[in-house]
Amino acid sequence: MPDRMNPFEIAQAQLAQAAEAMGLDETTHELLRWPMREFHVHFPVKMDDGTTRIFEGFRVQYNDARGPTKGGLRFHPQETFDTVRALAAWMTWKCAVVDIPLGGGKGGVVCNPKEMSLGELERLSRAYIRALGHYIGPHTDVPAPDVYTNPQIMAWMMDEYSHMIGHNVPGVITGKPIPLGGSEGRGDATARGGMYCIREAAKALGIDLSQAAIAIQGYGNAGQFAHKLSCELFGARIVAVSDSQGGIYCADGLDFESLSAHKLHEGTVISYPGANCTQIRNADLLALDVDILIPAALEGAIRADNAGEVHARILAELANGPTTPEADEILHRNEVFVIPDFLCNAGGVTVSYFEQVQNAYGYYWDLDMVYQRLNQKMTAAFQAVHRTAQHYGIDNRIAAYVVAVARVAEACKLRGWV
Ligand code: NAD
Repeated sequence: MPDRMNPFEIAQAQLAQAAEAMGLDETTHELLRWPMREFHVHFPVKMDDGTTRIFEGFRVQYNDARGPTKGGLRFHPQETFDTVRALAAWMTWKCAVVDIPLGGGKGGVVCNPKEMSLGELERLSRAYIRALGHYIGPHTDVPAPDVYTNPQIMAWMMDEYSHMIGHNVPGVITGKPIPLGGSEGRGDATARGGMYCIREAAKALGIDLSQAAIAIQGYGNAGQFAHKLSCELFGARIVAVSDSQGGIYCADGLDFESLSAHKLHEGTVISYPGANCTQIRNADLLALDVDILIPAALEGAIRADNAGEVHARILAELANGPTTPEADEILHRNEVFVIPDFLCNAGGVTVSYFEQVQNAYGYYWDLDMVYQRLNQKMTAAFQAVHRTAQHYGIDNRIAAYVVAVARVAEACKLRGWV
């Protein structure tokens, strides 16, 4: 499959591979190739300089056979309908692979939040909800934070929706601040879920994580928590990290506290002055001789031209879509054990689901309860994918699709749709 495909074409091509491996009937395959519903809106927002700008927004409800659709909302200048469609499809498979009773959705607004004031962002967030509020809700479609959106934006959106409906509805959105019904443990849930998968993969491959060397591409929310938790949970050595400006390498291991403080103050990791640290390029980081490589930045990081240089035994995809289909074939041939994105980063949506459950009950769990239930969900999902990969002799990504698609297809059949 060529590297030139757009994200939605990639998502459809991956589904086709799984459909073939599992012998999915043609009608169900056709149903699952497309979003069931999508919304395209344009809405006005008053800017600080007194002008009014018209913004473009999307919301895709990909498939709701297993429950209300669920998925993040991105504010990004290069947002496209096809990216949102792909991410909504991946959310469908992600919720199914961890076996939570939700479908998949995603939304986006074409805007550059870095150039907007807090007041403009608040008016944009509220206007998006006024444009789409009648089509979302706790039993319909539940948004969450994603690229360049955050708990404050979720709070404004929940407030606007509650005004539209006439009463408080915390369950309309997840990733809220804790005082407004957010869940304990949501902050590091994505990285923590990935760590539980890495722990299981290491057991399967006989890797002692306390001796393991790890490299992390991307040092934002997911990447920094991956650093912290790899040290805390496994005692592993993080030998390299990078951000959009480049990377740093230290064979003895990088200290989380001082490196994350440096990133916060300087905005980059490359000037980190730690002893025995050297600067490296992002391309060098991907090719390091490490046990585990964690892409935690953007889509398309590992492609046909660099996949052959990956020497890690485990590739744990915390980012969405970091590996192109052509690269996948190379990694599989080279026996790199890939923990595919919609399994590896499913911890975030799993704790979002826990947040919905707690909102519905109006009863809140402590951190230990969240961790314990997240561990159960992620471990069961990893084992189901690993068993399926071995059973069919297929790679882990297609195996994850087979597990997830079988669950969604079964729900469609039971409803009498196909
Ligand atoms: P973020 O914006 O907090 O961090 C992204 C990091 O990637 C930044 O440090 C940025 O400098 C770095 N980066 C950008 N381009 C790079 C490049 N070419 N090379 C190296 N680094 C580069 O985002 P995040 O929330 O940490 O998300 C990262 C990835 O994880 C995304 O793919 C996202 O969809 C996925 N993800 C995140 C969550 C979550 O809960 N945060 C959940 C599921 C999936």
